[in-house]
Amino acid sequence: MDDFLYTRADRPETALRLAAQPGVRFIAGGTDVLNLMKDGVEHHDHLVDINALPLSGVRDADGRIELGALSRMSDVAGNPAVRDRMPVLSQALLAAASPQVRNMASLGGNLMQRTRCWYFRDASMPCNKRQPGSGCSAIRGQNRWHAILGGSDHCIAVHPSDLAVALTALDATVVTHQRRIAIADFYLPPGATPHLETVLRQGELITRIDVPVTPLAKISRYLKVRDRATFEFAVVSVAALVRLDDGVVHEARLAFGGIAPQPWRSPAVERALIGRPLDEASIKAAGEALVRGAVPREHNAFKVSLVQRALAEVLS
Ligand code: SF4
Repeated sequence: MDDFLYTRADRPETALRLAAQPGVRFIAGGTDVLNLMKDGVEHHDHLVDINALPLSGVRDADGRIELGALSRMSDVAGNPAVRDRMPVLSQALLAAASPQVRNMASLGGNLMQRTRCWYFRDASMPCNKRQPGSGCSAIRGQNRWHAILGGSDHCIAVHPSDLAVALTALDATVVTHQRRIAIADFYLPPGATPHLETVLRQGELITRIDVPVTPLAKISRYLKVRDRATFEFAVVSVAALVRLDDGVVHEARLAFGGIAPQPWRSPAVERALIGRPLDEASIKAAGEALVRGAVPREHNAFKVSLVQRALAEVLS
C-alpha cells in the first residue's frame, strides 16, 4: 500500500476544501476503498475522513424519507419507517454484505463502491476501468458475473450495490452539497470511458439520499439471487414495486441488479405489465421485454433465463 496523508475533517467546509484537490478522496466506513488501496487498485495521496460530519440519521420529512449519507447500512435497514414504508430498501440492505460490514459501511460509500469484476481487482490484469486503454480482460475471459445488458466494447462490469437497485426502483434522489441528482442519472454508462462511473465531480460530497414516500413503495419487495446465502454479491436481483387493482396491474416500477453496469430499469418491462392481469402471459411478456437486446457472453448466458425467472418469482 502506498503512503498517503490522512485527515479527519470535523466540519463540512474543511472536508470540501481539502477534497477539491486532485488525488484526495473521502473515506467513511472504508470497507471498500482500503481494500482497493491495499491491493494496489486505487492510489490516493490523501484520505479525508468524514465520519465526524453531521450526515447521519433517518429523517421523516414532508413526503419523503431523508437518509443521511453517513448512516450505517444496518441502522437504515432496521429503521421502523424504512421497514414499514419502503420494505424493498430494508430488504436490499439486509441482503448485502455481512452484519459486520453493514454495521460499518455508510450509505454514501455503498453507492460509490467499485465493481467486483475480478480483473479490475487484480492489478496485474488489463482493465479499462482501472487503467484506461489497457483493454478488457473480461470480454473474452471469465465473465460469469458480468453484464448482459448495457455493457460496451470497453467494459462489461456490473455495479455491485443492492442499495442502488432498490433506490432506483424507489425513484430516489442523491443529494450533494451542490445539487440534487436523480438516481437514474447518477451512474454513467461505461461507453468508451468505463473509469468514469458517476456524475460526481472531484470533491463533491454526498450529504443524503431522499426517498419519496408513496403508496407504491409500501408494497415493494427485493429478491436477490446469489451463489451463497451470505456475504455475496447478486448474480441477479430484482426490486419490484407493483400495485394491483382487481387483479390488474395499475402501477409498476422495477429495477434489476447483476445484469448491467448500472441499476437497470426497463420501461418496456413496466409497459408489458401495466393494464394487464398479473398472470403467466403478462409475466412472460415482461420477461421477454427485459432481455430484448441482451448480449450474453461465453460464461453468463444463464443470466438471460435466470433474471426472467427472478422477475416471475418476485411478481408471484
Ligand atoms: Fe475492467 Fe470492466 Fe473489463 Fe472488468 S469488465 S476487466 S472492470 S474493463
